Amino acid sequence: MQREALRWRAAGRSVALVPTMGYLHEGHLSLVRRARELADLLVVSVFVNPTQFVPGEDLERYPRDARRDARLLRDERVDVLFLPERDRIYATDHSTWVVEEDLASGLCGAFRPGHFRGVTTVVAKLFNLVQPTVAVFGAKDYQQAMVIRRMVRDLDFPVRIVTAPTVREPDGLAMSSRNAYLDPDLRSEARALNRALQIVRRMLDAGERNADALRDRLRAAIRDEAPDAEIEYAEIVDAETLRPVRQVVGPTAAAVAVRLGGTRLIDNVVWRPRG
Ligand code: AMP
Repeated sequence: MQREALRWRAAGRSVALVPTMGYLHEGHLSLVRRARELADLLVVSVFVNPTQFVPGEDLERYPRDARRDARLLRDERVDVLFLPERDRIYATDHSTWVVEEDLASGLCGAFRPGHFRGVTTVVAKLFNLVQPTVAVFGAKDYQQAMVIRRMVRDLDFPVRIVTAPTVREPDGLAMSSRNAYLDPDLRSEARALNRALQIVRRMLDAGERNADALRDRLRAAIRDEAPDAEIEYAEIVDAETLRPVRQVVGPTAAAVAVRLGGTRLIDNVVWRPRG
């Protein structure tokens, strides 16, 4: 992969990368279509990265379908599907990590210790392997996109980071490979996440600035509609620092993570003041 990528770059060709863990859905494909417009060559990686799973999580049962992924990517005219083997990415004595210490500490980072270290490390490795000029990430994983941007800035990676909007099911549920775990009842409850976030967005639009009021409403709306959801966090944070705010003054993110019958789901909305 790296040999090929270095050849492309030496020939002056730009390269776009979309990193994924596979089991592709329309959310992934929207990133692929966006990336297609941004460079001469398009690489999609499919790698279920073991280091971003915390012990006890779903690493081994994470859904996989490489054949179907390959077919979908061929239909999107992707130039290279990079599908590395686990032991080709991590030597058995792998001992070097990329750690972002600020944005990665709250929200998902607080509940999945080591998760973002795995993400930043594998993305740094993918950047070295694929040599992209641009890489596209989804807004669904808002904290992840912010952590990657910070890593790129702090370590001077010569790559532009583009964030693409969250793609949703007709009832508003953010598409996710993990939605496949949900039985029909839990799938129906899962709508609550986006609905609750939309309530918060409307409260902000209507002028509510008290973060406690927004947070309380967010939690209540999830509890009402998804009685089986165990809320990990439901927070109102500064959209840049990802720190909880008391009063909304600038760009703000409402972010939630719940466990629904053992399946972990996340979602967010980012709100910006008008004018
Ligand atoms: P994953 O395969 O879940 O690691 O996701 C790979 C990339 O796709 C990440 O940049 C995600 O943020 C993005 N992604 C996942 N689901 C969605 C979605 N519903 N809408 C937009 N992007 C998404």
